[in-house]
Amino acid sequence: MTEGRPRAGSRRRRSRRRSNRERRPEASRDEAAVDAEAKPAQARKLPPREPRPLPEGATVADAAARLGIEELRPEQEAVLEASLAGRDAMMIVPTGFGKSACYQIPSMLLKKPVVMISPLLALLQDQHEKLLSRDIPCIRLDGSVRGNKRKQALDRIEQGGALLVMTTPETLASPILIERLQKSGVGLAAVDEAHCISEWGYDFRPAYQRIGTHLKELGSPPLLALTATATEHVRDAVMKSLAMRDPAVIEVPPHRSNLAFEVLPAEGDVRARVMLRLVRRLRRPGIIYCSTRREVDMIYALLKRFRVPVHRYHGGMTAADRNKEQARYMRRGHRTVMVATNAFGLGIDKPDIRYILHYQSPASLEQYVQEAGRGGRDGKKANCILLYDPEDRQIHQALLNRSRIRPDQLYRLGTALAAWDEEDRTPSLEALALSAELGPRITQALLGKVEEAGFVECDDDGIHVLAKGTIEADTRGLSGQFERLRRQDSRRMDSIEEYAAETECRTIFLRSYFGEEVDESCGLCDICRGSPKRPAGFFAPVALPASAKKKGPNKKGRSRRGGRGSRGGRGGRSRSRRRRPRPTSDA
Ligand SMILES: [Zn+2]
Repeated sequence: MTEGRPRAGSRRRRSRRRSNRERRPEASRDEAAVDAEAKPAQARKLPPREPRPLPEGATVADAAARLGIEELRPEQEAVLEASLAGRDAMMIVPTGFGKSACYQIPSMLLKKPVVMISPLLALLQDQHEKLLSRDIPCIRLDGSVRGNKRKQALDRIEQGGALLVMTTPETLASPILIERLQKSGVGLAAVDEAHCISEWGYDFRPAYQRIGTHLKELGSPPLLALTATATEHVRDAVMKSLAMRDPAVIEVPPHRSNLAFEVLPAEGDVRARVMLRLVRRLRRPGIIYCSTRREVDMIYALLKRFRVPVHRYHGGMTAADRNKEQARYMRRGHRTVMVATNAFGLGIDKPDIRYILHYQSPASLEQYVQEAGRGGRDGKKANCILLYDPEDRQIHQALLNRSRIRPDQLYRLGTALAAWDEEDRTPSLEALALSAELGPRITQALLGKVEEAGFVECDDDGIHVLAKGTIEADTRGLSGQFERLRRQDSRRMDSIEEYAAETECRTIFLRSYFGEEVDESCGLCDICRGSPKRPAGFFAPVALPASAKKKGPNKKGRSRRGGRGSRGGRGGRSRSRRRRPRPTSDA
């Protein structure tokens, strides 16, 4: 672990200034090189003053120190070397690695602004506040910055100099920003979440496909593409779309040799029993990932009943509750279990997590490897166990059906837009929905994508078609991309199934999936260890601990036969089977 820690001194000094030391959940969205502790809630109340640029001749170490980083990782150094020398670079590192330092540092050292493009508004806001609290010149410009603030931001950008400009792909497309950046010049363009460019990526965003064009308008500055995971396919798409020139590829494979992968078949009733047995045997701290909030609550209650020290985290809780639970779990040396949806874990830096247990299979191997990779960051062995039931696929299918755009509906919207365009009229949302024979909510969601792709512009007057005369064909093209995306979803779920059914080393399977050439078995996974079959007793009901029997209120008669725990688990399970899982995406 070479990631720099904030200096003890500066941390003490900073904490005196603040009364609120709680982290906001959004803060965890970033693997912030900036001190991930405490968001300076009070900072905004301090009298505003211009951030102070580094003095002439400052070094990378000076800039890193401003971020509170004592020592950079070798991979960060390699990226910085390329970027500062004006060479294109692509950085593929797991979340929590410290990607943001790789554009924040150049923004302090280069003579022209560094432009950082990210789709995540919460991340932009959070980073902006943190950087300002560290006295680092930066400007945030996205759709939520309006009026006088927008004007000031644009003026500051035009002044240029050492500055970080944080924006979204949509805002980057605005002519005024392009014009100001043309005046200031751009020292480096950093594209965060670069996999969004590719329709093969798991988070495709149409606006990303136009970034390349805008960068050309900005005089093709040196580029830095950043992402957490990218298969060969996605990498190629990113490089092509951004027109990268022989980029330095700096990569930290998600795989680490201290992770012991295992897949346990756990169909139906057996699942909760297996989970309980594992949780009571494995060394803590650990994380249990579930697909739905309901399941999180159910397991949390079950583990409490079994006197397991447990926390929970999901998007349905209040921010205050989430923060509290996370803070307790993160406490150094605190050995508890966190039950969570995939909302938990981005940017968390707890090195001693001993196991990552997936109560259900996630929607993709990309997601699985990222989540499993949160175990054993200290280099010591960690268990990554997947409880596998082929039926899990249905849950993900339901979740995806809710969140994905339907290509046929998008196509219909395109036809309707073309008709309005032909008459040269500007429909309201309601009128457009009516003519496309779609519900207003669906129409709005679809329009979001069409607007993101730059085919229309929506304002108070209605919906203006920008792609005049070509709107139908353009939308059809976009539908095609979403169609591919859906096929890809399905292929991703196949890959989880293949992983579960694998009969050779699991590590080799995972690494080859991400394009590594490996033939050496890991020696740690269940298959390398000779796939020891768990004894039948492992799948039998679990007795409540004696202490729980004595102390537990209202438990009379429940634990007499020692099967209560598993019945509880079974109850939870069958309940969630009967009802359709409530699709909640926490990502
Ligand atoms: Zn193996």
